[in-house]
Amino acid sequence: MIPDAEFGYELLVCRWAELAWHPDGDPTPAIVARQIGTRERRWDVLVVEVDPAGLRQRRAFGKRELDRELLGIVREAPAEWTWYRDTLAKPAYPWRYVREAIHRAADRDLIDERTRKGKIEIRRRRPYPDWVRRIVAIENKPDLTASAAATLSGQLEYDVEAGLLDETWLATETTGDRLEPALRREMPVEAGILLTEFAGGVDPDAATVEWLPSDLGRAVSNAPDQRDRDLRRLVLAERAYGRGFRSYHETMRPDCRHFRLERAGEAMVPDCAAKGRCPTARECSGSCESFSPEPPGWRTKGWPIEGGPGKGIETLLDRRRERFRYRMLRR
Ligand code: SF4
Repeated sequence: MIPDAEFGYELLVCRWAELAWHPDGDPTPAIVARQIGTRERRWDVLVVEVDPAGLRQRRAFGKRELDRELLGIVREAPAEWTWYRDTLAKPAYPWRYVREAIHRAADRDLIDERTRKGKIEIRRRRPYPDWVRRIVAIENKPDLTASAAATLSGQLEYDVEAGLLDETWLATETTGDRLEPALRREMPVEAGILLTEFAGGVDPDAATVEWLPSDLGRAVSNAPDQRDRDLRRLVLAERAYGRGFRSYHETMRPDCRHFRLERAGEAMVPDCAAKGRCPTARECSGSCESFSPEPPGWRTKGWPIEGGPGKGIETLLDRRRERFRYRMLRR
């Protein structure tokens, strides 16, 4: 089953990575997310390889991602009560933004906060763990063309310069043969190549390695200073942790009567009964000409009081995100 939309292919690659990472080596616990990036670059799929013990400790900080400001606070908060300006690094912006972030952190039970003699003091609840090992990107080109290979070459230059990734791969659907030599010559040699075969759905054997990637971590030539690079990597990893790849229901319309989930082996992808295919994330919106809200009557026939089938799909995807975030630790 190969969805028409690249979006659907992306979901299949994500699920395969969740089942089978690493493609060339021992099973490696990893969190998989899609469409995570920086201001300059957004990656189709991001695979964050984790330290199992560290990830278990990360769980105590909740399901939601920690942004750059919150990370600064939870990582620097001391074990004893301390005035925040005595313990946090001086920011490049006004201190009032730091105070707002402290309140947010305390509201989420990430740190303790109190006021003594008009001064805000903070104390950590628990140390923030070192849970990220490697960060790997996968670009998806189900139908690889020479121009797509050339585009990837330019993108990879950014990846090497930015120094945020350890490895990058291209995923393309196999045509039954090995990749054409002409196309492979267009590809940057640093990028690995995965040949997927999703016609029968997703399972751990649905992709093979055509070309192994280089270690970009060693190729970093012009990375920003190490401290800033580490923080930017951690911000990416936190986004991946919080969002995963099943949060598309937050922007699509599972509450449309035509929206449903289709099985593709061990994966599930959205399907639109009106269009007869997997819709793109962009077209599945309130402005879609075929959008039709599920009738109120659907919400009373055995579905939860607060929602109908659409709500059920959201709950299912959220549950799967939670379940698989930690299941790979058992491998
Ligand atoms: S009809 Fe439009 S809004 Fe409804 S599921 Fe299909 S693409 Fe989404």
